[in-house]
Amino acid sequence: MKIAVIGTGYVGLVTAVGLAELGQNVIGTDKITEKIDKISSGDVPIYEPGLEELLKANLKKDNLSFSADLNKTIQSSDVIFVCVGTPQRGDGSADMSQMEEVSRMIAENLNSYKLVVEKSTVPVMTSMWIKRTISLYKKNEMAFDVASNPEFLREGSAVSDFLNPDRIIVGIETDKARDIMVEIYKKFKDRIIVTNIDTAELIKHASNSFLALKISYINLISELCDRTNADVEKVAKGMGLDPRIGELFLKAGLGYGGSCFPKDIRALTKIGEDLGVNVNLLKEADKINIDRIKIFVEKIKKALWILKDKKFAILGLSFKPETDDIREAPSIKVIRELLDEGALLRLYDPEAMDNMKEIFPEESPQITYAQSLYEAAEGANALLIVTEWDEFKEMDLQRVKKAMANPIIIDGRNVFELSKIRELGIEY
Ligand code: NAD
Repeated sequence: MKIAVIGTGYVGLVTAVGLAELGQNVIGTDKITEKIDKISSGDVPIYEPGLEELLKANLKKDNLSFSADLNKTIQSSDVIFVCVGTPQRGDGSADMSQMEEVSRMIAENLNSYKLVVEKSTVPVMTSMWIKRTISLYKKNEMAFDVASNPEFLREGSAVSDFLNPDRIIVGIETDKARDIMVEIYKKFKDRIIVTNIDTAELIKHASNSFLALKISYINLISELCDRTNADVEKVAKGMGLDPRIGELFLKAGLGYGGSCFPKDIRALTKIGEDLGVNVNLLKEADKINIDRIKIFVEKIKKALWILKDKKFAILGLSFKPETDDIREAPSIKVIRELLDEGALLRLYDPEAMDNMKEIFPEESPQITYAQSLYEAAEGANALLIVTEWDEFKEMDLQRVKKAMANPIIIDGRNVFELSKIRELGIEY
């Protein structure tokens, strides 16, 4: 069985390498030729722990390769995992143009039976459109099937998530498609859940939206805590010990970002509205998340009154730790708000600074990039923690305090224990 993986971004590259590691015969392809050249030489274009080592190891065997020739890759494959982007459109719906483009290419290169697997996150009923597009553009009577196999990996732990999945969701319509998918994932056969395609597609959107809801819920509770004597960290702990609730995703702070939760909750909202379902619960969760930035900036103003010409160290630019991904990162919104106020910003992140320089270039008048968190703190009127990298949790607070003009830390991620940090004479 030859497997093609179309799209070698965060998901596609991990999928290609992961499937090869599971012993499959894989060719990865992408429309960006430079990306393919880089990957072919064992270079990973993103920061994802463990991925480069696994890529290099699998390239050495002969079951993993990459090609920029999409047509040939499709023709030579039996199963095609589609891992292209499904970004957000202006109205909140998912932009399915990359999926459509790939469907047309598959149709034009349908030289044998192929199983087309949606790995990208797509709205429920997308498979119907893929089938219709392939049927419309194919030039022969060759048979094909579509399956849904949503991906649940998390950036930062993507390799181990792919190789140790909680569950493998497989949405299929035919026995042949089911048999192929079960064969691919035979190593995890105890974790495979086979459903129809609509169900599989919905499981992914429903899961991401639920996690987003959970974060917004604790953020709503955190506002109650801010106005009372309650400590949100302890409230979350007390709630999370109930196994029906669980401790994960109960971390109050600046809210969720990234290329998944914000767009997925909006895509589910839009498809729900289109289908006549009351989705106000999802809308409120999204609104709470958007408001987190405003609340954070209010806290900064409460500490420093006027922000114009004040110096801020901003720690953490990626949307979460252990990734260089800045898509929909809260840091971008915080930075924009502070720039509007006339503040002077010194930014630092262990991995995401190159990506951020594409949005806020080094030559921007109010921005500089620091080489370490201590350099960022030098002379700052306040230090802002935006992403909770371990490096920040382990910072030498005495050294930071000495370096700063005013020892004020405004922590968007509740990294430190309030009592301990106040003992050091830091306003927190
Ligand atoms: P990405 O933007 O990193 O990668 C998409 C890749 O597809 C890019 O390399 C792009 O060049 C390529 N591409 C686009 N159109 C193409 C075409 N016509 N032919 C060939 N290649 C094409 O996106 P991503 O983060 O990997 O996400 C991909 C999908 O997986 C999205 O639907 C996303 O919601 C979903 N997902 C993402 C994550 C995550 O953590 N990033 C997790 C689970 C699911």
